[in-house]
Amino acid sequence: PATQPPRAIRELPDELISQIAAGEVIERPAAVVRELVDNALDAGSTHITLRLLAGGVRLISVEDNGVGIPAHELPVALKRHATSKITSLTELESVGTMGFRGEALAAIQSVSELSVLSRTANQDSAMLLDGRSGELQPAARAQGTTVEVKELFYSTPARRKFLKTDNTELAHCVEAVRRHALTRPEVGFAIWHEGKLVEQWRAQTIDAASGEDLNKQHQAALDRRLADVLGDDFLENSVAVHYQSGNVTVVGRAGIPDAARSRADHQFAYVNGRYVRDKVITHAARSAYEDVLHGHRQPIYALYVEIDPTRVDVNVHPTKIEVRFRDGREVHQAVRHAVENALAVPRANMLMANAL
Ligand code: ADP
Ligand code: MG
Repeated sequence: PATQPPRAIRELPDELISQIAAGEVIERPAAVVRELVDNALDAGSTHITLRLLAGGVRLISVEDNGVGIPAHELPVALKRHATSKITSLTELESVGTMGFRGEALAAIQSVSELSVLSRTANQDSAMLLDGRSGELQPAARAQGTTVEVKELFYSTPARRKFLKTDNTELAHCVEAVRRHALTRPEVGFAIWHEGKLVEQWRAQTIDAASGEDLNKQHQAALDRRLADVLGDDFLENSVAVHYQSGNVTVVGRAGIPDAARSRADHQFAYVNGRYVRDKVITHAARSAYEDVLHGHRQPIYALYVEIDPTRVDVNVHPTKIEVRFRDGREVHQAVRHAVENALAVPRANMLMANAL
């Protein structure tokens, strides 16, 4: 029917608002994993364990050893737009945490059965909050937080129907953790599926008190983590990237041309520790390979861009996978030069070897 009787304008109920918001942010189990691991990292955790059942559809549990949530704040944590991470626009503009929208737990809870078990350093016991009933009761746990998400999308069967097989959903969940693991080598990760250990990446030690240069320690830890997660091949077939110009620093590894693949599945880009899909960075990295890679070969790399937080807007996409740079050209040039310089070293060595 082309015309419908006019209906009154009404404010949506809270639950429905959250479900609509969830549609944007929580498209599949891996999105829940991404949000919960973000939270665990923001809480200063050094070890994070993910447990899944049925590719995450039946259960996603994220267990951390972070600061925990005080008992009286547990119900607030599940509210929409409730966050401990920013209090003002100024803080948003220089935000250093993964989260700041205060939406994830509310969105997840609106499309699942969610519970939060948490204990801070000065609590005698942990408290368990059942999201559905709002019931709060004492429970056992060491310091930290466990968030459990059960029966994802049970109330939104349309969304549930779009889910792929358990193994495909599991692969996406693992990928979500991998993206975090590649930027936080000092944090240990373990992933379990159906009671079996699927992945384990040990925490790499970075010791501020050791007297050794912190940047060097971080680079070494990062190299070990890259090898753990992506394989020794990745490390052997790539060169170190170290570049600084003006406002931008770029570190990481760039693959030698021979290591290029047919798919762009080994291209990781980070901005201030956050995994991003960014056209400026992707284009700049690709252009650094212009003369050495032909056709559709895809270079491999893990690039970490550090930039003054006021020069990048991270609040342009609900999942924060996209960012906007104040000066895209500055970032493009830095990334391109960073990779070109890194690649120039092995090429120079090769020319030397040929000349000998
Ligand atoms: P955001 O991360 O944007 O603040 P969330 O909905 O993801 O919003 O989380 C709401 C709040 O709950 C956080 O600001 C934080 O204070 C608290 N929180 C959530 N997860 C954890 C966790 N694993 N450890 C400690 N605090 C947490
Ligand atoms: Mg969050």
